Amino acid sequence: MKKIIVAGGAGFIGSHLVDRLLTRQDIETLVVVDNLWTGEISNLAHIRDQRLKIEIHDIETFQTDVKFDEVYHLASPAAPQIYSSEPVRTIAANVLGAMRLREIMKDGGTFCYVSTSEVYGDPLVSPQPEDYRGSVDCTGPRSSYDEGKRCTEAFLFECHRVYGMKIKVIRPFNVYGPRTKPDDGRAVSNFVTQALTGKPITVYGSGNQSRSWGYISDIIEGMKRYFWRDGIDFCGPLNIGNNREIPVLKVAEYVAALVPGSEIIFLPPPPQDPTNRCPDLTLGQRILPGWTCGIPYEEGIKLTMKWFAESIDIQNSNEALFTHLRENGLLAQSAV
Ligand code: UDP
Repeated sequence: MKKIIVAGGAGFIGSHLVDRLLTRQDIETLVVVDNLWTGEISNLAHIRDQRLKIEIHDIETFQTDVKFDEVYHLASPAAPQIYSSEPVRTIAANVLGAMRLREIMKDGGTFCYVSTSEVYGDPLVSPQPEDYRGSVDCTGPRSSYDEGKRCTEAFLFECHRVYGMKIKVIRPFNVYGPRTKPDDGRAVSNFVTQALTGKPITVYGSGNQSRSWGYISDIIEGMKRYFWRDGIDFCGPLNIGNNREIPVLKVAEYVAALVPGSEIIFLPPPPQDPTNRCPDLTLGQRILPGWTCGIPYEEGIKLTMKWFAESIDIQNSNEALFTHLRENGLLAQSAV
């Protein structure tokens, strides 16, 4: 039976991963370590499984006598407005977090790291294969995240090369879905919550910049197959994402069309906002045959909107809007 630790397990992706891990029967304990910087304890509140233990702590200074068979490192903010406002903490969570996790991993254990497509920076080739080295400004305003993730990858690949540590590294592309925080500042969560609360939908820059939007359940399915289900012996890095690249403005317009009365406004772009991003999935198709991000953004946004609509404080909401959402299947009948 396995002992597992998930750093960042109360976060958006982390909590969905914990749900999926707990469907395994070969796990004795699953320890979540999360300092709740961007994670939420409510993301785990539905779990009734005695194997789950939650520790509210920074991963980089987490103390334990236990050694773990599998380590999952997701302890990092992912929203530019959050990581760029606390860069030291962002670098520490990724790099020092990885170093601490290595110390508490059993010899022969597996270190699974959720890196990011941001390692490609503002890419000059499209789509981006895993061997593309990226176009990142190591002194720029996104560097704490981009270079923090890149340094953590460097740390893990060197541990693999020099000490034979077993590692698995994925690079997810713009993941969205239920349990993103309404105030986390990311595109889909911003657009959906803005529309639902009658605020203008904020497009930064022209909106022509594009991303490849990956719905959470597709991403988690890829992670499950790669990290544990299929017995894969490949250290990565592996792109995980939806390779349908869509401009930000198109996403905003789609959200606006779902919610009558929505207005789109244009605001200045954040510094060094990447112009494009799209995963090359050639390697993914070889390593994970049969896996695909099958949920298109149109459907994923409706599912996300439904979740937000059910979570937002509806006392303050517009009843006509919620009637519209219910009638269009965007809100459960039971949510008044
Ligand atoms: N974006 C936007 N309005 C928002 C939030 C984000 O236009 O309210 C843009 C942002 O400038 C970027 C894209 O949407 O071009 C994706 O931003 P996000 O923060 O979700 O992800 P990342 O920048 O890390 O790809």
